[in-house]
Amino acid sequence: MTEYRELKQAVIDACLRLEALGYVIGTYGNASARIPGGLIVTPSRVDYHTITPDDMVTVADDGAKLDGHRLPSSETDVHRLIYLARPDVGAVLHTHSFYATALSCLHETVPVIVEEQSQVVGDAIRCAPYVPAGSHEELGHAVAGTIGDSNGVLLANHGVVACGRTVDESLFVAQIVERVCQMYLMTRAISTPVPIPSTHVRSERDRWLYKYGTTADHDGGH
Ligand code: 13P
Ligand code: ZN
Repeated sequence: MTEYRELKQAVIDACLRLEALGYVIGTYGNASARIPGGLIVTPSRVDYHTITPDDMVTVADDGAKLDGHRLPSSETDVHRLIYLARPDVGAVLHTHSFYATALSCLHETVPVIVEEQSQVVGDAIRCAPYVPAGSHEELGHAVAGTIGDSNGVLLANHGVVACGRTVDESLFVAQIVERVCQMYLMTRAISTPVPIPSTHVRSERDRWLYKYGTTADHDGGH
């Protein structure tokens, strides 16, 4: 139970931040971080304000519970199957944030419309088909099969998932995804937003990952 205590606390802190942002209400949403051979995940239906590292649950890559006195999140398969599909992902946050969830009811893809989406999300935000929340493994396969190389994916009529290399990065991605969804809804209400060309999406993602904030990002090193 003492294993990964700092990581477990980091996931709990991220949940409290998501609640402060208004992205989750009550016990909706869940969060996880990858560990070798599996993941640590929030317990199912436990108030975020009461969760301690001892309440976090350890689950193996094959779905077997390894450690913890609580039930793992009912949506653990969403997290587990994303980690299996995406070796680059180290943390997954699932929220019911307002604008992303509103967009998820349209079952549409959000194209890459603003700079931070190209850089931080890295791709369009696609929408996984509707699956009743009680069909846990089917929901996991739907989400993991839809996310592609993006760091954000909508769950139809349900919510959104944000991924990153670390817990902090996933929290950042969750905020960018929510802003993008808000902007997309606003611009769609007026007209049809013009997406960023895909070659620039790739180069901006690359620039943000490897150059932004370094001399390599400055012409001639100035
Ligand atoms: P859990 O409390 O089981 O993680 O479920 C929360 C949720 O987001 C349901 O859609
Ligand atoms: Zn949910």
